[in-house]
Amino acid sequence: GRCVVAVDGPSGSGKSTVSRRLAVSLDARYLDTGAMYRALTWAVLRSGVDLTDAESVAKVAGEVDLRIGTDPRGYGVTADGVTIDKEIRGPEVTGAVSAVAAVPAVRAMLVTRQQEMIANAGRIVVEGRDIGSVVAPDADLKVFLTASEVARAQRRSAEDAADVAVTAADLARRDKLDSTRKVNPLQQAPDAVVLDTTELGIDEVVARLHDLLTE
Ligand code: C5P
Repeated sequence: GRCVVAVDGPSGSGKSTVSRRLAVSLDARYLDTGAMYRALTWAVLRSGVDLTDAESVAKVAGEVDLRIGTDPRGYGVTADGVTIDKEIRGPEVTGAVSAVAAVPAVRAMLVTRQQEMIANAGRIVVEGRDIGSVVAPDADLKVFLTASEVARAQRRSAEDAADVAVTAADLARRDKLDSTRKVNPLQQAPDAVVLDTTELGIDEVVARLHDLLTE
């Protein structure tokens, strides 16, 4: 039957790995909402509009044909037919995504799109910052993952094959940017199960969530 799992948390909290593995073990779809914000950011950068010009950013975002797959074992992202799986993980997009994600019209657009995808999926694990609070407040299970700053930087640098110190600085910068914005995308739903993944390990987290769902 229908089942929606919302997984929120900061980057490096283990969200992506946990969400994908949980989706595989539930035989569910998987939606990476961060990849959607990254894809629109790629399109905005390509267009050359000023990132601080919210109106122009929203206009570009509204005109992009964004497609994203929902296979937890591997999903593609395209913008206007261009495959951008690698590009959305690059430093240019990572450096600009907070600004694009802060534009209210961009958020409204993507939230609607995400809600449509969830409604069509049946069973789906959705990962992001605002899934349990804004996108899917009626999710069957809401999870909020946390981890120490050191653990987050280590994981993220391993994922991106980047230097730990550079990654740590970038994470700290993005956390600060997100948290000092009028609209902080990272919202912990009051009814979310909070799990600290610093000591737990990804497999244990997946097992625990699986238990919570099948209890
Ligand atoms: O999870 P990931 O690091 O790929 O997300 C990239 C950026 O997209 C975040 O730093 C945040 O600014 C934005 N984001 C968001 N809301 C979401 C998912 C991501 O604002 N649901």
